[in-house]
Amino acid sequence: MRVSSCDKQIGHRAHAERMMTQMTHPAENAATRNLVRARTTVGDFELTILTDGTYFLDGGAMFGVVPKPLWEKRAPADAQNRILLGTNTVVVRTGRQTVVIETGIGNKLPEKLRAIYDAKARLPESFNAAGIRLEEVDVVINSHLHFDHCGWNTTRLHDGRVVPTFPNARYFAHRGEVEHGHLQLERDAVSYISANYDPLVESGQMSLLDLKAGEIHTLMRGISVETFPGHTHQLMAVHIESGGEHACYISDLLPTSAHLDVTWVMGYDLDPLRCIEERKRFYARAIPEEWLVLFTHDHHTPMGYVSWSDKGKPVLRPKRQPQEK
Ligand SMILES: [Zn+2]
Repeated sequence: MRVSSCDKQIGHRAHAERMMTQMTHPAENAATRNLVRARTTVGDFELTILTDGTYFLDGGAMFGVVPKPLWEKRAPADAQNRILLGTNTVVVRTGRQTVVIETGIGNKLPEKLRAIYDAKARLPESFNAAGIRLEEVDVVINSHLHFDHCGWNTTRLHDGRVVPTFPNARYFAHRGEVEHGHLQLERDAVSYISANYDPLVESGQMSLLDLKAGEIHTLMRGISVETFPGHTHQLMAVHIESGGEHACYISDLLPTSAHLDVTWVMGYDLDPLRCIEERKRFYARAIPEEWLVLFTHDHHTPMGYVSWSDKGKPVLRPKRQPQEK
């Protein structure tokens, strides 16, 4: 039988589509595998850690007043003094709802900044690699509204329109963060890109929370938010609790596992002294209660347990086996 050119084209297209499917199948492709950073459970909840890809920030800014000979042992710098960071999104499946914590850098960064940070914009691919559809997300929580935490709240399309990335989700952020972003202060105006939240506030898809410092607000069974001020005035951590287990997305209060020392705070922090006090307050519960700590910017160690060392410093430790408890 002669194959018409039309059939041939369909054949080619089907083949190309099959190739695309193979290329994006998590089992087939190392680059895609790197997009799913970790999976674990907390009680009955399933946690999947996704990424918008790595980016680079100045090492000095990331470690504030800590001298470089000390921090570069933990975070090696490149020729431009930059260190590699991750953009970790946590997806929690509670059995009833799909909750997304943080949405990376997104695709709306001005070209100059995108080049400086070497931002990758891979979060939608990361969802695809994990087999999670954007439409099935019920809730999105932003710890704060710096551009590297809420970038994929919205997507800029080819025609310039900005649309919600998670069309069926209710978004949550702190009202104080939106108000602070609108002030466009000299100190941190560059950190706030209003297209990440204004369209969602205007359409009513984003709910703004008013909780005060140290206050805990329950969003649904097993998921609550609590403010830990210092990095920004209303930074919120997200608590995940199920079956007697507890994980906490502590966001930029402890951006990576290299930042565990209470005084190793960032040059970006608006109130570094407050960060030191809030870290102590965090450890006072997280260590004795054996919380799983989820790190927002640690590409290689997206989560871990913390304990006190012999010298009284907070350090990462392996998960205890049941008989050790
Ligand atoms: Zn950050």
